[in-house]
Amino acid sequence: MSIVYDFKENIKKDELENIAHVINDGGLVVFPTETVYGIGADATNSEAVKKIFLAKGRPQDNPLIVHISNLEMLDKYTYGINSVEKKLIDAFWPGPLTIILKSKNNLSNNVTAGLDTVGIRMPDNDIALNIIEVSQKPIAAPSANISGKPSGTKIEDIFDELNNRVDAFVDGGDTDIGIESTVVKVDNGVVNILRPGKISLEDIKALGLNVKLDRHVFEDVKDGEKVESPGMKHRHYAPKTKAILVEYDKSDKMLDKIKSYQAKNKISIGAICYKEHENELKNIGIKTIVMGSRDDLLGISRNIFSLIRGIDKYNFDVCLIEGVKKEYIGTAIMNRLIRACGYNIL
Ligand code: AMP
Ligand code: MG
Repeated sequence: MSIVYDFKENIKKDELENIAHVINDGGLVVFPTETVYGIGADATNSEAVKKIFLAKGRPQDNPLIVHISNLEMLDKYTYGINSVEKKLIDAFWPGPLTIILKSKNNLSNNVTAGLDTVGIRMPDNDIALNIIEVSQKPIAAPSANISGKPSGTKIEDIFDELNNRVDAFVDGGDTDIGIESTVVKVDNGVVNILRPGKISLEDIKALGLNVKLDRHVFEDVKDGEKVESPGMKHRHYAPKTKAILVEYDKSDKMLDKIKSYQAKNKISIGAICYKEHENELKNIGIKTIVMGSRDDLLGISRNIFSLIRGIDKYNFDVCLIEGVKKEYIGTAIMNRLIRACGYNIL
């Protein structure tokens, strides 16, 4: 059985030393960040990094994000930053922004999946920063989940699937943001968002920078198509239950769809819906799971992965999921929901 450290109330100094030893000995530690839980290992130790891929069943071609706790580490592992990258770092670090930079190739090749770039970020979470500081290692950490499943945002959701696959879990309570970091790459002065997150297009624009969303944020990747980020090619988050995404402001379409299902046959229909639509849906016989208020995007972001993980237990024939406005963190929520629904959109 993996060891569980309870850091929900406070960080315990002696236990922190033990956790740092696990990292330094080439072990795996599940720890919280402000986005989601990560499975961490020493990013300079190839054997340790290999274990992450094995524990997750992660495709070998999907590189890992490296977590650092100070800017000296950035200098040590990358060829430095340009003025646009500096602006991003000054504004958003520590925080949920991963920047793809030229790697000095002194990290394990398994981390970067053989690319000459590395995704790097400084998390805004004291437990994560302390583990990096005390172990004095850059920590490679993908999201804590078996590949394909939604990222873990609370220990209870991921304990069973990762127990015995990692050496330790550090419980810091539910994560604040609930979806993974924004991933950007700066090309010719333009910030390209490869994966949207809490740091939004609007936030980056507000710095006076040129910014765009990569095409594959909302479009599926066709066979053989070249992508900026290997993670775009992989299937993510999908439950076994058939899930359909309802675009924001298309509730009428959702009601029509429900009627057509109900007219055809007796199937069980569920909905992950806004608080504002709960009663209306219940009244027509739909089992509802409330994601939060449609005006509280951060609240929805915190809940959404745990709700998607829970869908299968209801045995619905079909589950409708209400989408949010594609603005600010809503863009990131929609990016995850579209994948969870296998690009099945109403
Ligand atoms: P995860 O670790 O599960 O949060 O996923 C990390 C994401 O960052 C994946 O989508 C990766 O493909 C992406 N990523 C990591 N390193 C790079 C890189 N060097 N170039 C492009 N994308 C990267
Ligand atoms: Mg992941």
